[in-house]
Amino acid sequence: PFFKEFLPDNYRELPELAAKLNANENPYGPSPKAITALKEVATKGNRYAWFELFDLMGKIADAEGVDVKNIMMGPGSSDLLEKTAMVMFMKGGNVVSADPSYMSLIRVAEATGATWKAVPCKEDWAHDLKAMEAAIDSETKLVYICNPNNPTGAMTDHEEMVDFCSRVSEKVPVFVDEAYLGFLEDGAKKSMVSLVNQGKDVIIARTFSKIHGMAGLRVGYVVAQEATLEKIQKITRGGMGISYTSIFAAVASMDDVEFQDTSRKLNAECREYVYKSLTKMGFEYIPSSTSFIIFPIEMEGKAFLEKMTAEKVGVRAFEINGKNWCRVSMGTMEEMKLFTAALEKVLI
Ligand code: PLP
Repeated sequence: PFFKEFLPDNYRELPELAAKLNANENPYGPSPKAITALKEVATKGNRYAWFELFDLMGKIADAEGVDVKNIMMGPGSSDLLEKTAMVMFMKGGNVVSADPSYMSLIRVAEATGATWKAVPCKEDWAHDLKAMEAAIDSETKLVYICNPNNPTGAMTDHEEMVDFCSRVSEKVPVFVDEAYLGFLEDGAKKSMVSLVNQGKDVIIARTFSKIHGMAGLRVGYVVAQEATLEKIQKITRGGMGISYTSIFAAVASMDDVEFQDTSRKLNAECREYVYKSLTKMGFEYIPSSTSFIIFPIEMEGKAFLEKMTAEKVGVRAFEINGKNWCRVSMGTMEEMKLFTAALEKVLI
């Protein structure tokens, strides 16, 4: 593996930030309709949400065009990435994924007893699907693809993804993490969900944390074959971890299409502003299909984080391929201006 993340020594202490651009959160959420729903159902916090959860699952199934039996809910998609890893790798094996990629599923796979077969991304930072297919062996229990990818923000071509997932899932299940897909105008068309209806053994993860701005409310789901979900849910239950209030917030947020459209538009405006500012300062960046941008910097990651935090701007730092990189989440335009001012002060 050729990528690692830097964390400050005191990363458990909450720094005082004027611009919190370190966790790919949506600065506009939750949607006003979700907040109203939360308040209205707060008094129901004494109840378990059985039927209410089924209602949300039905609504998600309709929106995704699948049967409700193809849905498993979780308190955020992290929970489902981790549960899938625990079940799939109980007897060891290996997981094939890109390097760099989002590490949640991979780290749990490793801790459960699997090995990570890391396949470097291509020069344009798309997944090297050919190399990933070649890396699959008799011990491979799952392929993990994050598209668009985190921390790169890069998108792998849709046709290539459909071809890869259709073919490879005949041999081994393919897990596609679509956390950031909602930020694309044509995100729904780029999803791998329709492969589930074609009987393919693909597992697609979606979350309410990003485009819906509900990271702190914890709702996510996977779409997969019923048999695959049964295997996972035999060992660990799905929706039991979601709070009553969050279920209602998710239902209301799904109906608030205007909120999602606005989030998408403002996110794109901030990306354009950051691209222009970076170019002006002489930085190169990876074009992003997400709510964050990553670019190489000429400073060791930990020192850079300390200096940016001193300017009250929170970002993330990675080492990829021997180089230092800064990953910045899109906040409000005001926050992005604080970010570019701090960056100029620290690095220029
Ligand atoms: N997948 C990716 C690629 C992410 O970047 C994140 C969060 O940053 C998650 C999954 C997990 O999000 P959550 O557990 O909030 O759904």
